[in-house]
Formats: sequence, C-alpha cells, structure tokens
Amino acid sequence: MSFHNISYRFRSVNEITPEILREIGVTGIAVDLDNTLVFDGTIKFFKNSGEWVESIKAAGIPIVILSNAIGLRVLFLAKKLGVDYIAMARKPSPKAVYKAAKRLGVDVAQLGMVGDQIFADVEAANRAGAIPLLVDPKAPEVFFKKHFTEIRKKEKVLLEKFNKEVGYYVDKRKA
Ligand SMILES: [Mg+2]
Repeated sequence: MSFHNISYRFRSVNEITPEILREIGVTGIAVDLDNTLVFDGTIKFFKNSGEWVESIKAAGIPIVILSNAIGLRVLFLAKKLGVDYIAMARKPSPKAVYKAAKRLGVDVAQLGMVGDQIFADVEAANRAGAIPLLVDPKAPEVFFKKHFTEIRKKEKVLLEKFNKEVGYYVDKRKA
C-alpha cells in the first residue's frame, strides 16, 4: 500500500461526524491545525472549528492536536480549544502519530489522523498504521508560498485519481 493512500476525503472537518467515525472504526482523533482548523500560520480559527472539536469531545471520542508548527502558537490554540497537543510533530514521520495514540489511550490502528496535506498528514498516518482522513485546505498558503504551490501541484495528481476511484465520503444517512 502506498503511504499516500487517502482512504477518506472530506470537504472540511465539519463533515466528519461522530457517527461516521464510529462507522469507519475510529476511536480517537489526532488533528492538524494549519489549514485544517485555523487559517494557515495564524491564530484565526475557521468559523466552526471550535464547534466541531466540541462535538467530537461530546461524543466521548478523545482528541489531540498534532501539528508541525512550533510550540507557542500550538499551545495557544490548543488552550482555546481545551484539548491536549503535540507540537513540532515532524509529519510525515510516524513518530508523533504513535505518540498521539498512546496519549489518547487508543490503538494506533483506530486513530484517525485528520489533516489537509497528503505528504504530511496522510503519509504520517499511513506510515504509523493509523487511519488518514483528508480535508480540503481552506485557502492557498500565504507563508512558504513556493513550497506549497509545488506540494499542492503534486497532490492534485493524486486527488484527481482518488476522486475518480472513490471521491468524497458520502454519509449514507444523509444521502
Ligand atoms: Mg495543515
């Protein structure tokens, strides 16, 4: 299996409901920050990020932030959300994914890694044997623009293939 195997794709975290998580066998969540819950490189949350985190917590699904960003900003945002965090995670290394599963007390095979980057979040999840849940990035990156333009271009090829074969996750209760 390729480390870039997407498994599940959503338009945003708000589509990821506790019911869906149960259905796909996810018992704990590690979630990325930049372009997944907040505008890239900022402390500005997307409109429903807080609500989504609350809905996961309310369903009794433990959640931890898993970000490659440096400590202080991650700490600030984690505090705002009232969740634990792991900063400087060095995704796509699987190390922090193992750490997240351990922290939450769940089997890594049942840990859902939610994030917007195939070559960081999805790859880290697959390398650790966790379950990748890809969300669309909210906006084009402003920082490290050249780097991200390259990355998003590479992702596009994989996303087009995935869309042809699988596509966005369809909630059968709503379809
Ligand atoms: Mg991100």
